[in-house]
Amino acid sequence: MGENTYNAYESAQRQFDQVASQIGLDQSTCELLRVPSREYHFTIPVKMDDGTSKVFKAYRIHHNDARGPAKGGIRFHPDETADTIRALSMWMTWKCAVVDIPLGGGKGGIICDPRTMSKGEQERLCRGYVRQLARNIGPNVDVPAPDVMTTGQHMLWMMDEYEAIVGGKHPGVITGKPVGMGGSLGRTEATGYGVIINLREALKELKIDIASTTASLQGFGNVAEYAAKLYTSMGGKIVAISCWDNNDKKAYTYRKESGLDIEKMVEIKDSYGTIDKQKAIDLGCELLDGDQWLSQDVDIILPCALENQITPESFQKLSKQVKVICEGANGPTTPDCDELIKARGIYLIPDFLCNAGGVTCSYFEQVQCNMNYFWPKEEVLEKLDQKMSSAFHAVHNLAQEKGLYMRDAAYVIAINRVAEAVKLRGWI
Ligand code: GLU
Repeated sequence: MGENTYNAYESAQRQFDQVASQIGLDQSTCELLRVPSREYHFTIPVKMDDGTSKVFKAYRIHHNDARGPAKGGIRFHPDETADTIRALSMWMTWKCAVVDIPLGGGKGGIICDPRTMSKGEQERLCRGYVRQLARNIGPNVDVPAPDVMTTGQHMLWMMDEYEAIVGGKHPGVITGKPVGMGGSLGRTEATGYGVIINLREALKELKIDIASTTASLQGFGNVAEYAAKLYTSMGGKIVAISCWDNNDKKAYTYRKESGLDIEKMVEIKDSYGTIDKQKAIDLGCELLDGDQWLSQDVDIILPCALENQITPESFQKLSKQVKVICEGANGPTTPDCDELIKARGIYLIPDFLCNAGGVTCSYFEQVQCNMNYFWPKEEVLEKLDQKMSSAFHAVHNLAQEKGLYMRDAAYVIAINRVAEAVKLRGWI
């Protein structure tokens, strides 16, 4: 997905190989960890509202479960590929390891466009996905969650289908469920908030007052929305948001020099993160080309959309003022940009650390489901803050001590933890 001459799986393997050789990882562990441990590829026939049947291609991939059940989202996207899911499953392993939660890495996807499907069609698709997978997921095996274009409602249909197949109640089979139906308070906000907790801690280290900063965002889905809300509540100013317009099949950047009113922008977007052009103009936004979010003179950029968005080519457009890149999306920066980021001295908060708030809260959701006792929102968010802050500082401190690039430092911590688990289990 994304602007694809880049292959996300090759990027994920390239990042892994580099750090694995830096830390002298043994050959067998390298062989095990540079590929997924198992993959499910299948088709889902769905009865459409017009009486026809449509067959959707779907995947679930487990990269590694040495530290716990595979964990990761399910994406709905027309451009989904097996390689993208492979990469994302790998990044989930590192994500769970870097925040030190007892989960492995997995990811799923269905090639579809929910924006053009009715609710009923989406429900049948979700149930069909679980019918194909029920034997290979479960609270102790693999626990899916929402991701690009999937919601709590999708998760609940999936949970219901799973329970109908295996019998009994198993709320721990899936996370990101609606609150009151086994979901955790704070889960909706968690990924975006986690991005900003990382940013807040990074700015403290850089001795920059967050209230004096400006930012530009790519994407306006769940992650970007809550990142923008928390960032502006801390006094930061967002001057531009770029998002995809599914009618025009292109992206636009919405800019307001004096700062966008995020609450108002949320009111004029749809559930897929598309902003209503006319209403944005009425709110005083300028309408610019989709890639203009990169060239704004801001301190911070937050790519919170899809992978492969910052390439050496688009990097040329990046404003010289940018000091911090916060990777809210998975894999938004291609590996050949890392040298350019280092050369410019930009502080990078790498994706699998930056956006780990979602899965961290999913872990809290599982814990609460197991106890059948649900915490107040403040308690969830406080625990989230602790986990994210300590993971951030562990990576930052290692990067400082060893003179490492932040992405490499995060990889060193994550790979070492997974390699250790593999060894302790006697797999290698
Ligand atoms: N889809 C989210 C991610 O990429 C959350 C995964 C989860 O909660 O399991 O991190």
